[in-house]
Amino acid sequence: MKIVISDGCNNNCSFCVVPYTRGKERYKSLYNIIIESYKTNIVCFLGQNVSSYYFNNSFIPKNIFFKDLIKIFNYKFFNIIMIEFITSNVKDFNKKTIIDIFSCEKISSLVHLPLQSGSNKILKKMNRKYNLIDYINCIKNIKIISKRFLFSTDIIINFFEKKKDFLKTIYILKSFLFDRIFFFNISFMKNTSIFHKRYIKKKNTKLKFLFIKRILEINIIINSINLLGKKIKCFLKKNIKKNIYIFYGLNKRKILIYSKKRILKNHIYYSRIINFYKAILCGNVYKNN
Ligand code: SF4
Repeated sequence: MKIVISDGCNNNCSFCVVPYTRGKERYKSLYNIIIESYKTNIVCFLGQNVSSYYFNNSFIPKNIFFKDLIKIFNYKFFNIIMIEFITSNVKDFNKKTIIDIFSCEKISSLVHLPLQSGSNKILKKMNRKYNLIDYINCIKNIKIISKRFLFSTDIIINFFEKKKDFLKTIYILKSFLFDRIFFFNISFMKNTSIFHKRYIKKKNTKLKFLFIKRILEINIIINSINLLGKKIKCFLKKNIKKNIYIFYGLNKRKILIYSKKRILKNHIYYSRIINFYKAILCGNVYKNN
């Protein structure tokens, strides 16, 4: 279940209209989030910038930050089997916060961290408030906690980039084997600080899209190979035929499973991956260890 926990954004990225259309960040109360999540097993916390979530009121002895929200859902609600969040900003993730969030065993193994560009020069022009080293350190610190994590990201192309800036982006996309990449062409929207540059020509858009698509296809295959023989936490998505099931891994990959055992809804299973076809994994299934 998708639960909007915040609205608006305080960040002012130079290409984005959200600060103008939605205004400053506002956060939903912990009480309302808990009420909304009642009866659900999978929560996805949504907001333009969930990582800066903050809540306090006089009934709660301490401030609730995003990491606290995750920990509450991870440790206090036994019905919850998976926690996701979209979208966050690496500038909000210091080492301690990363440890707190990604040590939670229910957190999705596919972590969405928008990169936007692999070039520091472009990140600065975008006013993203992090640089490449911050981003890389964030991924490395998450990986230190567990090897189970895969990553997805957002990329904007043609943001006044030169060939070398685009190639830097490609290098990062390849190096960290992003399992999902959402890529967009820059659009010059009214009210943004780059609107007056809207007549600048966008170069080689189709080629750049194709390039990123190919990188993604290769990344998916490498990640699938790396998952062979590994044990993945998963839960039932649907029963497609007698004894044939689609499970959903905590890494958000579909897992095709043949099993004569009785499969229960809303229960955590484990699957040992034995084969794959592109992004679809095949495995067996068993409960607990
Ligand atoms: S891109 Fe995201 S972080 Fe940047 S201003 Fe827009 S909503 Fe905020």
